[in-house]
Amino acid sequence: MKTVTLIKGDGIGPEISDAVIKIINASGAVIDWDIQTAGADVIEEEGTPLPDRVIESVKRNKAALKSPVTTPIGKGFRSVNVQLRKELDLYANLRPCYNLPNVKTRYDKVDIVVVRENTEDLYAGIERQVDEDTAESIKRITRGASERIAKFAFDYAVNNNRKEVCVVTKANICKLSDGLFLESARKIASIYPQIKFREILVDNCCMQLVQNPNQFDVLLLPNLYGDIVSDLCAGLVGGLGIAQGANIGEDYAVFEPVHGSAPDIAGKDTANPTAILMSAIEMLNYIGEVEAAKKIKLALFETLNAGIKTADLGGNARCSEFTEAIIKRLNVLVK
Ligand code: ATP
Repeated sequence: MKTVTLIKGDGIGPEISDAVIKIINASGAVIDWDIQTAGADVIEEEGTPLPDRVIESVKRNKAALKSPVTTPIGKGFRSVNVQLRKELDLYANLRPCYNLPNVKTRYDKVDIVVVRENTEDLYAGIERQVDEDTAESIKRITRGASERIAKFAFDYAVNNNRKEVCVVTKANICKLSDGLFLESARKIASIYPQIKFREILVDNCCMQLVQNPNQFDVLLLPNLYGDIVSDLCAGLVGGLGIAQGANIGEDYAVFEPVHGSAPDIAGKDTANPTAILMSAIEMLNYIGEVEAAKKIKLALFETLNAGIKTADLGGNARCSEFTEAIIKRLNVLVK
């Protein structure tokens, strides 16, 4: 039996993570969940939204499934997500974006994987107030981090039968910082002659994505462009309710939906658990539960094909009904 950390989160976090646990239990995979709480709810008792026990748990178990966690704004706490990525050195943010069956979108056959550098760029938080009317943020890019993420993207391409890696920068303007990211990608690309390599500027990339997304395969981006472009890609295939994600490092991986805790719909049984379920499928693959992952994906696709969908996708199924419909199909597949 494998032990996996489960960060239950808040807002819609508990209802969508409960749904996923039920589905995984029905898939034949036997997981011992190490349940950890984090976020606004634990601050009063533990003085921080991300207690050490959460980090220790992920370090012990190597893999985690994380529901959205709210970091209170303006109380001086660093984002739980950013801190978790930093403490565990989860340098790669991986977001596969592809059409799901019976989810209506503008384009068919979109199949893009966004690889975003997760540790530096404007997200390093190096800012200063120069004077009352002037503030500065430093865009920090290093050769080490850039080569490491480029290698991750090319390895991903090789291991997942992808044809092309396209590096996205604004190297014509940010000549030194984005220039270094581009130079690093070029260097790593030369080690992988079997994978096509393409370069594009981020503004052109956005335009091409909304006009003809089918031309793209794996996208490789520094942190800020990666954040923005990956949401654009999520929008192309159906939006937040289905957008999966993973943060991966050398030693640990945290799988989580792209969306936040959606407090407006919390506790109403209307949230779509697909994004966290798709993230959980990748978690199962990561820990070697490949058969269970395959069956869950099939049951999810059959459920969507049968027209059972939550409100965000234009359906009328509640979160619990959608979950039960997937389990019903899984029970047949697992027999
Ligand atoms: P954060 O800053 O934590 O990302 P946010 O409020 O900007 O939070 P989300 O919490 O992701 O963004 O939600 C934005 C809106 O999208 C919500 O108000 C909700 O209506 C919708 N939404 C997000 N996730 C889901 C989901 N799983 N199912 C259905 N609707 C969702």
